[in-house]
Amino acid sequence: MKLQNFINGRFSPPASGAYFDDIGPATGDVIAEVPDSDARDVDAAVRAATAAFPGWSRTPVAQRSKLLIRLADLIEKNLEELARLESHDSGKTVSLPRRQDIPRAVANLRFFATAILHDATEAHPTDGVALNYTLRQPMGVAGLISPWTLPLYLLTWKVAPAIAAGNTCVAKPSELTPLTANRLAELSLEAGIPAGVINIVHGLGAKAGDALTVHPKVPLISFTGGTVTGAKVATAAAPHFKKVSLELGGKNPNLIFADADLTEAVNTSIRSSFSNQGEICLCGSRIFVERSIHDRFVEQFVEATMKMRIGDPSDESTDVGALISAAHLDKVSGYVDLAREEGGSILSGGKRVDRPGFFFEPTVITGLGCDCRVLQEEIFGPVVTITPFDGEDEAVSFANSTRYGLSASLWTRDLQRAHRVASALDAGTVWINCWLLRDLRVPFGGMKESGVGREGGFESLRFFTEAKNVCVKL
Ligand code: NDP
Repeated sequence: MKLQNFINGRFSPPASGAYFDDIGPATGDVIAEVPDSDARDVDAAVRAATAAFPGWSRTPVAQRSKLLIRLADLIEKNLEELARLESHDSGKTVSLPRRQDIPRAVANLRFFATAILHDATEAHPTDGVALNYTLRQPMGVAGLISPWTLPLYLLTWKVAPAIAAGNTCVAKPSELTPLTANRLAELSLEAGIPAGVINIVHGLGAKAGDALTVHPKVPLISFTGGTVTGAKVATAAAPHFKKVSLELGGKNPNLIFADADLTEAVNTSIRSSFSNQGEICLCGSRIFVERSIHDRFVEQFVEATMKMRIGDPSDESTDVGALISAAHLDKVSGYVDLAREEGGSILSGGKRVDRPGFFFEPTVITGLGCDCRVLQEEIFGPVVTITPFDGEDEAVSFANSTRYGLSASLWTRDLQRAHRVASALDAGTVWINCWLLRDLRVPFGGMKESGVGREGGFESLRFFTEAKNVCVKL
């Protein structure tokens, strides 16, 4: 399969004529050729999006909503095919996109398609002398840069609010997982979304992504990816005074107090550790357990980990699929070597799986302190550490001991403590006795080096619009 860019409602080859390989993580084989786009392709896409903006931003809200719903319906109709494509392209087990990624892409589009129907704005009367009201207007061409972790899910998380609010967009999906973005382009044509409203430019981040970030006709950038890349995007965008939203990396803690429902805490922690091979920004990679139940937790957790089935992601019964790439497999494996050097004990897993593709065993590490690199740096694989703590203060200080602040889970039956600890944690999202329970209306984003700004619900619609105050003298 040879992919093309999607610009102005047409599929076109990259200006360079060059392509690179898209590798299937489960086999290591080439599964597609991806356009190696550069600034010329980005510029063509931005020109198409700029030309489409006046018409799209003036399209009645009800009509925009209808088109987005139509796109959502088409994604739903093609759910099985999209789930298989996502699994094939990213190595994730097919059951996950079938259950989560693709339904969530549908939900993203439906949510923002209907949210705009109920929009309202503020008015500020000034002592009987004036009336101020706020207009929230689309800004033009939105630049959308998304990662390979949840490819269609995160792409629609950006496309849906951007175009619902009346912007047009140029999206640069991860070069590692371009297949469902390509299908999204095809389905947007079928849905009747006008040419130029959604443009997709494939290619490398440092080339196509950077060209989008610095393009003078792109006033806002919504970026999801790693913290190091986020810093580059922020630096490149700053001189252009762009509005930038950064959803970055995490090193999320999972706090288990002695009064928690242990079975529930173990079962959910298995999911929060190893779902999508640990390659979800919200995975809990540092587990802290109150000392009195630490050994029991570890025993049950390790037993459950060892039962996980690793293998062919297209097999319904597989729990753990392949990591995204050979380079990522090396990175994850390197961190497990580092854990050994730092004095950790590997209680399960710890090795690559001897088969084609990029598989790594779910790995449980104990015996490391919070200042070890393994507990400080984002590994982003099926690797967790378990550390005991004594008391609430220590739990909070361990949890807050990294530069990240994306999400946290805490497990306790003590209601007061749950609220107290939630309030003290450095995290944009705190789950109490659960994990990954998401409501599209809530603000989403990270503290510290996990991001800048919030998206989700009206936060997204605000990000993708410019607030303007109008003051009328009475
Ligand atoms: P990267 O930061 O490597 O890449 C993210 C996107 O940015 C990709 O499309 C990439 O393109 C592009 N990119 C790379 N370099 C540049 C550049 N200089 N300018 C503009 N764009 C660029 O992240 P990954 O794809 O490896 O994703 C994993 C990371 O994403 C983890 O750190 C994870 O925590 C984080 N993440 C955060 C989430 C959140 O909501 N906070 C959600 C999901 C993931 P290319 O792939 O071609 O390099």
